[in-house]
Order: sequence, then structure tokens, then C-alpha cells
Amino acid sequence: MYRFKPDLRIPGPAPVPCGVSIQMSRQMINHRGEEFKKRFPRVLKRLQPLFGTKNTIYMLTGSGTSAMEAAVSNLVSEQTPTLCLVGGFFGKRWAELCLSYKANVHILNFPWNSGVDPNEVRAYLKQHPEIEIIFMVQNESSTAVLNDVKAVSEAREGHQALLVVDSVSALGGTPMEMDDWNVDVVVSASQKCLMTPPGTAFITFSPRAKEFVEKSESSRYYFDLRKCEEYLMKGETPFTPNINNVFALEEALDMIETEGLENVFSRHYLMRDMMRAGIKALDLELLVNDVDASPTVTGIKFKEADHLRLQIREHYGVEFAGGQGIYAGEIFRIGHMGYATPLDVLTSLAVLELEFKKFGEATKAAELVMNE
Ligand SMILES: *Cc1c(COP(=O)(O)O)cnc(C)c1O
Repeated sequence: MYRFKPDLRIPGPAPVPCGVSIQMSRQMINHRGEEFKKRFPRVLKRLQPLFGTKNTIYMLTGSGTSAMEAAVSNLVSEQTPTLCLVGGFFGKRWAELCLSYKANVHILNFPWNSGVDPNEVRAYLKQHPEIEIIFMVQNESSTAVLNDVKAVSEAREGHQALLVVDSVSALGGTPMEMDDWNVDVVVSASQKCLMTPPGTAFITFSPRAKEFVEKSESSRYYFDLRKCEEYLMKGETPFTPNINNVFALEEALDMIETEGLENVFSRHYLMRDMMRAGIKALDLELLVNDVDASPTVTGIKFKEADHLRLQIREHYGVEFAGGQGIYAGEIFRIGHMGYATPLDVLTSLAVLELEFKKFGEATKAAELVMNE
């Protein structure tokens, strides 16, 4: 295997462009100094089109789960009735977090290979007017399902519940329209479609969600949103942030803005369609149907998935991800998020062809690029 150029095709951390990596090695600056105060609020503002919001975006130093925990600790108190929509590993994480904060947790389970059904949500909310907060995942990376956030939001039909969305593996790869879709909290992280290394997370609150932040009786210190708010007024974070990740994000946003957000999304949808065409051509079984399929990761059923992944890593230096939760060992997942192009899809399919000795089959996916 070519150890000098490992090819990471997992749903995060995703590959980082060279220009972004260079930013990671820049000289340190004072996080209480003028330069940081000038640059930091500006980079957060540039994230707003990706979130589809005019609300303030806060940056936390931590992985994506830190922003998930911040959402819970800042909104949920003991016995707050919450509804978690669970269709995979990350939906389950919301439920676990709510339990840790002693919420009164309601769980709606969905099959782990299809999207959240908004009709079930609507029916459940009709029976449970007491629910105060709904937690869901936009792109369930563990199953390669893209959920319809807008439809779930609309299914509330005037119900009081806030809607909190984990968009960690979606934001920057597929549209999130927080304001138009009436979403109350969105969380994301640096290491997926945002093309920067792990270590920072993002969170934003609607005005209505902010009222919950004041009301929450849960313990919080490092991730107390009120502290973030107070310091952001000065262009700062309450504690020392991951400063180089801010520089890195500036560079990544330059790339996204140059390509154009709409084009970035089309590239992800093209990669999804190519991947699915190629997998079908190889007679492999996709985990998810066309309607619910994620644009940033593809799940493939395979009996000896982990052995296959090992072989492919050994032979070609290409790294696919395994299954999680009920799919551990049953599927493999191919990430195509952030710094990824149709060429990466072709080479991912090519190594599968080589491994299965089915030369030429999967390159049918190339037709999709040539037809672009
Ligand atoms: C990657 C990911 C997370 C965050 O995981 P961390 O390891 O804490 O960064 C959360 N939700 C989804 C859907 C993810 O894909």
C-alpha cells in the first residue's frame, strides 16, 4: 500500500485541502488581541449562508458532540419533556445526552435504513402537547440517510416544541435553511463538509431557543452559551479557542465561496448519484433507497464488510468506514464530503472493481460526470 498518500474516504474526519493545512501551521496570535477580534466575528458571519440564518453563530472548542451537549445543557432541565427522533447512531446520541441531563425523554424510533417519517412525528406531537424540544439529525452518517428537516419542522403544525438539528455531516454539503425552515438550534463541526481539521464545533440559536437558554437549570460552565454571547460582543471566546482552526476555516470558506455554495451542493449530489450508480453496477446492495440517500456518505451492505475494508486499505491505501451500532460489521460506508470530487468517487469504485475483479462495471458512473 502507498503509505505516503493514504486516501481517506470516511464520513469524517474528511480530507483537508493543502491551503487549509498551511493555515494550521501559522504563527500563534493572541486570542485577546486586535487581530483575532477582527477576524473571528467575520469568519462566523461567513458561516451564516451555510446555516441559512441571520442568527448569531457561536464557535466552541471541541468535537461535534460538544455542540450537541451544549445544545442539551443550554436548553434542557430535569424532567423537560423532549422527543428524540432516532434512526441511527447519532440520533441515539441525542437521546443519551437528554438522559444524562435527566430530561423526560420520549423516543420515536425509525428503521435504520430510511428517513424520519414526518407523519409519525405529527401524530406523536398531537398526542403529546407537553413536548418542549425535538432533537433530530439531518444527515445520519451511521446509516447514510438524509432526513427531511423542513418536513419535520412543518409537521409541528403550530405545536410549541423547539426543533434542534444535528447538521454535523450535512452542513456545507447540502442545504440547511435554518430561518426559512423555522429550525431553532443547529449544530455542526469543523471536520466534515467544512474541510478543516477536527477541534471546533458550531452552534446557533433562534430567538425562541435563546429564551430556553435563560431558563435552563442544568449545570454548565465551559459550554455556557451566555458566556459565549458575552465574549462574542467583544469579538472573543470565553476560553482559549482553537485559533488555527479559525485561520483554516477562513481558507476553507474562501474555497467554498469561490466555487459557489450552490455548486458545492451540486457537486455533492453528483457524487452521491455517481456512487450509487457504480455500486448498483457492481451488483452490490445499497443500504438506503434513492429518496432518503445522503449526498455526503453512501452505505453498502456486505457480509464481510470489515474484511473487505482491510483488504482495500492494504492493497490500495484507500480507507472506507465500517458500520456502527446494529450495522457494525454488516456494512461499509464511503464518505464523499467536503474536499472530495467526482474523481474520488471513480477511484473509490475502481478499487472495489479491482477487489472484485469486475473490471469496467462501475465506471458506468463516469457517464454521470461526462453528462454534466
Ligand atoms: C461526526 C458526527 C458527529 C460528531 O461527532 P464528533 O466525533 O463528536 O465530532 C455528530 N453527528 C453526526 C451526524 C456526525 O456525522
